[in-house]
Amino acid sequence: MHTTGSCFCGAVEWEAEIDENVLGVCHCRDCQVFSGSAFRMSGGNPQNFKFTKGTPKFFDKKADSGKVRRMAFCGDCGTHLASLPPEGEDDSFVSIRLATSRDFAQMKPMAEIFCDSKAAWMPELEGTIKFPKMPG
Ligand SMILES: [Zn+2]
Ligand SMILES: [Zn+2]
Repeated sequence: MHTTGSCFCGAVEWEAEIDENVLGVCHCRDCQVFSGSAFRMSGGNPQNFKFTKGTPKFFDKKADSGKVRRMAFCGDCGTHLASLPPEGEDDSFVSIRLATSRDFAQMKPMAEIFCDSKAAWMPELEGTIKFPKMPG
């Protein structure tokens, strides 16, 4: 599906094609800290992702895999929008913070990753494939 999204204040907007059948939630500590919540939703193998309005700020963070990921966020309101490969790397994997999509209400996860650090009080999500860490 084609989807578009925006940060809270509207200074930065994005668009992408995503596969709504392969969405997931991530329970890793980084996602909990960055989102300020119990988990973060992403996935969908984004294609043709681009920022269509404004310019995000970037923060380079080292992922669990040892790879550097560029975290894109709005420099005005602080909303996290996506993580991207670092500049100059051919790894094209983009992860969109799907809660910023205008279509978020219709999105449903099919997988959960990093369940090892899932909040203890969270009920089981029905119908998801669960992985203790990043799936191999
Ligand atoms: Zn903003
Ligand atoms: Zn995560």
